[in-house]
Amino acid sequence: MSNTMRAAIVRRFGAPLTIEETAIPEPRYGEVLVRILACGVCHTDLHAADGDWPIQPSLPFIPGHEGIGLVAACGPGVTRLREGDLVGLPWLHDACGACEHCVSGWETVCESQHNTGYGVNGAFADYAIGNAAYVVPLPSGTDEIRMAPILCAGVTTYKGIKETEAKPGEWLAIVGIGGLGHVGIQYAKAMGLQVAALDVGADKLALATSMGADVAVDATDPEAAAHVARATGGGAHGVLVTAVSLPAFAQAFNLVRRRGTISVVGLPPGAFPTPVFDVVLKRITVRGSIVGTRKDLAEAVEFAVANKVTTHTHTARLEEVNRVFDDLRAGRVDGRVVLDMTDRR
Ligand code: NAD
Ligand code: ZN
Ligand code: ZN
Repeated sequence: MSNTMRAAIVRRFGAPLTIEETAIPEPRYGEVLVRILACGVCHTDLHAADGDWPIQPSLPFIPGHEGIGLVAACGPGVTRLREGDLVGLPWLHDACGACEHCVSGWETVCESQHNTGYGVNGAFADYAIGNAAYVVPLPSGTDEIRMAPILCAGVTTYKGIKETEAKPGEWLAIVGIGGLGHVGIQYAKAMGLQVAALDVGADKLALATSMGADVAVDATDPEAAAHVARATGGGAHGVLVTAVSLPAFAQAFNLVRRRGTISVVGLPPGAFPTPVFDVVLKRITVRGSIVGTRKDLAEAVEFAVANKVTTHTHTARLEEVNRVFDDLRAGRVDGRVVLDMTDRR
């Protein structure tokens, strides 16, 4: 194999990514080199490339944390995987394994974690490095394009729904029916919940309905909360906010039922006002939710393997990544765009 690969690289925040030939990395102890077949484009990749968040990645870096590919080489000490295995490379690249959070099965909040496509180079490239203990093995024959969004959008919404503690038969409102929300609807249905979906624009609401939402409501309608209250008989037991919009977080307080939980998943930079009186008197819980643990990820993958959850994808080439980012910025993406990395082979 040649020792260079294509990669989409962020050299400056807010500037277009550059497609470059760069050295194929070498797996160190406990790591695997993965030949990438596909990688979904998450809105987080856009936040990363724009330097939106308080902790920024160091430049230059390669985004991409919904990568799927074949193990091309194993570093020393890798016993769990073999060359040729199909694996997914999620956001959680690795964690310390020893802190109070890691030993409690909460590796997602480990202070010493590294993140794929952020602190560690990601999968917008022909090859990427994974940690053998943190990549997720996938059955051979898996459709890598349709599975890719499960690696982040899938596990994140699956976990975020669990974090609302809504029970089968109860109502979940999902605000933001993009890459995350459209899979979230299906996890919610597979988990026995009733779903009210909110987004802006008729196309997103049509996608929500086709994904199985029981009710689809335009978030810009001044009567949106009233519609949800009527449909749910008093508000949603759980609210999952995936919208890249601060007003959407504020609106969640109007959608949630008394004693309900708002699961905060979207990451627009900034803050939203919290109505103290409502939170207290209605005993509302506001809870952050960050991706999912390795166990959550394995479960999220199982739903997809069993066809209980599918993804609505469009493919693009690596060279089109800037156009995909523009579409995400403008809210024009329908479901998830997945970079098909096999086009040159
Ligand atoms: P996306 O761009 O595919 O979807 C966002 C959706 O929000 C779009 O459909 C858009 O129309 C909708 N929206 C915008 N304004 C709205 C409003 N006022 N009301 C309702 N909907 C509105 O993005 P995505 O890939 O689904 O990611 C969503 C967010 O989740 C991003 O901020 C991303 O960084 C974050 N994220 C968080 C985690 C986590 O672990 N917490 C994981 C992955 C992504
Ligand atoms: Zn993501
Ligand atoms: Zn830890």
